[in-house]
Amino acid sequence: MSSLDAFARAHLARLDEDSLRRRLAPTARGACATAQRAGRELISFSCNDYLGLANDPRVVAAAQEAAGRYGAGAGASRLVTGSHPPLHALEERLAAHKGVEAALVFGSGYLANLGIVPALAGPRDLILIDALAHSCLWAGARVSGAEVVRFRHNDVEDLRRLADDHRARHRHALILTERVFSMDGDRAPLDAILAIAEAYDAWTLVDDAHGLGVVEAGARAPLEMGTLSKTLGSYGGYLCASRAVIDLMVSRARSFVYTTGLPPASAAAALAALAIVEDEPERAVRPLTLARRFTARLGLPEAESPIVPVLVGEAEAALALSAALEARGFLVVAIRPPTVPAGTARLRVAFSAAHGEDQVDGLAEALGTLLRQGCP
Ligand code: PMP
Repeated sequence: MSSLDAFARAHLARLDEDSLRRRLAPTARGACATAQRAGRELISFSCNDYLGLANDPRVVAAAQEAAGRYGAGAGASRLVTGSHPPLHALEERLAAHKGVEAALVFGSGYLANLGIVPALAGPRDLILIDALAHSCLWAGARVSGAEVVRFRHNDVEDLRRLADDHRARHRHALILTERVFSMDGDRAPLDAILAIAEAYDAWTLVDDAHGLGVVEAGARAPLEMGTLSKTLGSYGGYLCASRAVIDLMVSRARSFVYTTGLPPASAAAALAALAIVEDEPERAVRPLTLARRFTARLGLPEAESPIVPVLVGEAEAALALSAALEARGFLVVAIRPPTVPAGTARLRVAFSAAHGEDQVDGLAEALGTLLRQGCP
């Protein structure tokens, strides 16, 4: 065996031992929150398509039309010849939706944060980051070379204390948080965070990946990024900000400059989905209403977003609970470290407008029974 394979196998063996190895499961998504795995049709609660728009005929048709007209790929980076019309139309609509001067589409949400943060902060600067911020915010922070200081999750007093301790030694300061936290479903206290940002002359970047189109109320930050891959049912990332900041990103965000533009079909699909979000506002309330129905049935704290964590603890136990639900026809994937902190493995239940009340009640019933029986 080569030393390379020996390295890989030793690492995999350690992951297996801790129930932390990841495996791919071919999954064919269907409309109405269904998914096929290993030949079985399951009701999926593990999808971020919160409004069921990925399968909306209007969104699919927009993707098909754009591919037919502009081709399957952008053909080059945005700054060369890859800045096709659907991207510009989408950027205009995103900016209008957020009520800001401009928007810029990136290859993905991950790439957006990997480019935005180092474009704004460097070695002389301070980054204050929520402890539970998404991996790509952390990646951007680390790549930037700034001093990175974490504050306790959603704890504004901790943020204030750390700003007080560290701010004076740095040129600029950037606060990184999320509107809706991806694995806990809770919301950041943005009013208080923005007030601290103002008091300490810091800039705030809010990751709105799980908010756009479903949890939109609340304060707006001067920098709001997100993804096209959740409520908008497509693929790609974006930043909404002032014209000056967007213009700076075009020249300075490396994950924007040195990568191929998003395929026309992805941009056109996201644009069609955003139009539906705006034209049919009644859709937005349904995922949260269903999440609250579920938390009420199980006696869990009331959902703040369409994401509900069911904490289990150890990775192995979370896998067992997920498998037991799958045997009953429900797909609820276990989330394990390092995606979440050690000892907080969980099921992450995500609700969509495409779910029926009966499906939600069925899951609550099945999960309630399993938990009462002591599974895991
Ligand atoms: N930020 C958050 C909070 C996310 O949950 C995700 C996706 N899991 C991303 C960013 C990355 O977005 P994308 O999937 O478009 O790369």
